[in-house]
Amino acid sequence: MRSRHPEDLLAAACAGDRGATGRLISLVERGGSPARAVGRLTFRRGRDIERVIGVTGAPGSGKSTLTDRLITRARAGGGSLGILAIDPSSPFSGGAILGDRVRMQGHALDDEVFIRSMATRGHLGGLALAAPEAVRVLGAVGLPLVIVETVGVGQVEVDVAGAADTTVVVVNPGWGDAIQANKAGLLEIADVFVINKADRPGAAETRRDLDNMLDMNAEMGEWRPPILMTSAVEGEGIDELWDALSEHLRYLQRSGELEAGRQRRLIAELREIVVRRLERDVHALAAGQRWETVSAEVLSGGLDPYGAADRLLEDLGIVG
Ligand code: GDP
Repeated sequence: MRSRHPEDLLAAACAGDRGATGRLISLVERGGSPARAVGRLTFRRGRDIERVIGVTGAPGSGKSTLTDRLITRARAGGGSLGILAIDPSSPFSGGAILGDRVRMQGHALDDEVFIRSMATRGHLGGLALAAPEAVRVLGAVGLPLVIVETVGVGQVEVDVAGAADTTVVVVNPGWGDAIQANKAGLLEIADVFVINKADRPGAAETRRDLDNMLDMNAEMGEWRPPILMTSAVEGEGIDELWDALSEHLRYLQRSGELEAGRQRRLIAELREIVVRRLERDVHALAAGQRWETVSAEVLSGGLDPYGAADRLLEDLGIVG
């Protein structure tokens, strides 16, 4: 199956050709018109995906090890699943490079598990826009469960939440000032907290810290994020984590939040696409000759800034 046409790739991927699935993700990753074609083809069916779980946390917090355990747990239930491991700081394109994902390689020969590293530099809007699109590809090829694993660095963890029904935030005992500083952001996105490396000292204190933080969160709705303790290397606490994930899914279904959340995220995605496209156009405009001419008119006093903006935006077809 060497065709690169999205239609052919999708047909092959739906028939179980994981290489074709990988090539579809590559197209999404690179952006541009091939990515658009994939997006059009996978949009409807991709939305039928049963469940998307996001796993985020600092580098080294144990996300891969934990995800590997979750794969085993999911497979024990008999279902197939896809894993997208996204490192937003990676300059490399994904696909071939699974080197840093060796912790999941125990599943490499399992046809029911699709694992893929992804870089998103070519994609307009980076991770925020590439992740939901890649998830839809996996949904469209028939994978009912997708786990999106990302390195949480600032905005990125918020972005991953934009692609997931349930977001798991992984911290470690003695979690540092870096995370303390981003408490508000974490509270906003975490549906489930995991204190991984709970085999190390300080886990109980970290739990108290998190608990206090949750107590003080006035904006919490009906769902209070549970705090799970795991030792991913030893396989401890994984069943409890799995149960908590299932419980969250039941909550989402019961409350109607599963669909409502997906709708909100889809509209947020649309908004983001529009904003990114406008940004791109504005950059192009600002680099052009017309910008120079209009700027010079403002500087010479012949045109006020608002009038100048009107004139420039008219070029983009936007009337103020
Ligand atoms: P990631 O960068 O967040 O994906 O973290 P990894 O899964 O690659 O783990 C980073 C390091 O932490 C590895 O050396 C793991 O063996 C180790 N590690 C992961 N989970 C645990 C745990 O529960 N306890 C301990 N002590 N080490 C762990």
